[in-house]
Amino acid sequence: GGLGASGVKREVEETYIMVKPDGVQRGLVGEIISRFEKKGFKLTGLKLFQCPKELAEEHYKDLKSRPFFPKLINYITSGPVVCMAWEGVGVVASARKLIGSTDPLQAEPGTRRVSVQTGRNVVHGSDSPENGKREIGLWFKEGDYVSGYQLKHLG
Ligand code: GDP
Ligand code: MG
Repeated sequence: GGLGASGVKREVEETYIMVKPDGVQRGLVGEIISRFEKKGFKLTGLKLFQCPKELAEEHYKDLKSRPFFPKLINYITSGPVVCMAWEGVGVVASARKLIGSTDPLQAEPGTRRVSVQTGRNVVHGSDSPENGKREIGLWFKEGDYVSGYQLKHLG
């Protein structure tokens, strides 16, 4: 990465974004993709996917001991999800901002997590660059993940 205006090193990161079954049902896929495109991030993976229970459990393994874990696994496997990988400088934090807070009551106006129950927020976004890589590795395999191409407007 290069140096930003502040002199801080600005790294290209990757994040895993997932439109949950609710978001697919409610027809929010296009809007979510559009937000990332408008920000100039690079799409590196995209698919509609019926998630098997084992993958859901692996993805959310850090939450295994939480009381809502079984409900979370049921929910995420209840219908198809849309899996996406996005690449760009600061994309992890930007995505978390775009999709809103975990708790819908805390989500800012205009973000996608407003007015839905906790546990029914419509979009997942990785919480760190490390988890971005881990999650992309879990959800995509060779052939449905393509990062080695240039966006024209990025030169
Ligand atoms: P996220 O990174 O903002 O998605 O939040 P977490 O990683 O903490 O939780 C993962 C997902 O578990 C959330 O997006 C919710 O769908 C669900 N979840 C988290 N906390 C709760 C809770 O207190 N109750 C319920 N029912 N679901 C929760
Ligand atoms: Mg999380």
